[in-house]
Amino acid sequence: MSFDAAALRAEFPLLASATMPLHYLDSAATSQIHHAALDAMVRHETTARANVMRGTYRLAEAATEAYETARTQAARFLNAAAPDEIVFTAGATAALNLVAYAFGGTLRPGDEVVISLAEHHSNFVPWQMLRDRAGICLKFLPLTAEGRIDSAALPALVTSRCRLIAVTHCSNVTGAVSDVAAIVAAARAVGARVLLDGAQQVQHGPADVQALGIDFYAFSGHKCYGPNGIGVLWGRADALDCLPPFQGGGGMVGEVTPEATSFAMPPYRFEAGTPPIAQAVGLGAALDWMVTLPWPAIHVHEQALLQRLLAGLATRPQVRVLGPADLTARQPIVAFNLAGLHPHDVCQVLDRHGVALRGGHHCAQPLMRHFGVDGTNRASIAPYNTTSDIDALLAGLDDAIEVLA
Ligand code: PLP
Repeated sequence: MSFDAAALRAEFPLLASATMPLHYLDSAATSQIHHAALDAMVRHETTARANVMRGTYRLAEAATEAYETARTQAARFLNAAAPDEIVFTAGATAALNLVAYAFGGTLRPGDEVVISLAEHHSNFVPWQMLRDRAGICLKFLPLTAEGRIDSAALPALVTSRCRLIAVTHCSNVTGAVSDVAAIVAAARAVGARVLLDGAQQVQHGPADVQALGIDFYAFSGHKCYGPNGIGVLWGRADALDCLPPFQGGGGMVGEVTPEATSFAMPPYRFEAGTPPIAQAVGLGAALDWMVTLPWPAIHVHEQALLQRLLAGLATRPQVRVLGPADLTARQPIVAFNLAGLHPHDVCQVLDRHGVALRGGHHCAQPLMRHFGVDGTNRASIAPYNTTSDIDALLAGLDDAIEVLA
């Protein structure tokens, strides 16, 4: 099946209407929003805006139906067993904190949680906070020299005290995709659960949580062509059932008396207060659009751009690329440094070329430490990128080397 990136680009209002050259290579931070998501939100806000799960008038029922349709769309995108396994959150960070708090509440001092040194701070700090609050033991999977999670360390690190392994599905710095099968096998061998942070993976196609064999999956809408302010926590039904609530408020209760409160079933137990309704509708539309895309052809396109970028970087002796040399199990995210140049200065020169590039520690300071750097530049490639984006980046880097060195 063929794939036309330029035609796809035209479906993104910001990219299509840019009056200046725009080579957007920061989709790992936030992808551009697809028109289907925008259209759905405008339609919702202008035809069905009301609170959900409360009113009995027609408009309120339409709002509730739209919100629940979004849950079904998210379930389909993840191949969840049922829509009730989808909890809407404010984003991946909120979803990860929800698990750290609620699942963390079921742990005892001495229980172990295993994360890795490659995690985004969103899947790092909540577990440290839990450790300090609850006296659990937090262990860290080491990394290979190239920054992959070292699966060889699993047998020694994952003991019978382990209750959860929580790792990224795909690194936001190197694009390395974790060896989920090895992680799940190690967890199951000791009866532990598995959480995957899918924030970077879902931008490159739908996930199949049942095939992955995991218990929890988290991602953000704004990184997969939808709006911000919305994200998803998927939990296997039996895993969600065991969890106490995270936040208290309207919509998550059964009965409230001065003496006690009974809580609703999942997913409502975890959705206190008025949820981000229009954002859920927009996300549902984005995910519905994503499932129609020719992903095998898109992967070929993304890998071709990745190889073009890596080949270009390799011809510039000032460049040090971080991350796995092997491109299998690797999404198109490239971290690199220009010798002697600060990543922010490089970004400023690139901006003059219309290239939107990220520089900094990417909320992954332990991984930066592993590589012995304070920060990097990072180019992240999405389906709407073309060879002209890569060539503009490489030309801009030459200019940065000339101007700054
Ligand atoms: N996890 C990973 C791997 C990420 O890359 C990010 C954001 O960059 C997050 C979690 C947090 O996502 P958000 O800021 O949308 O909550």
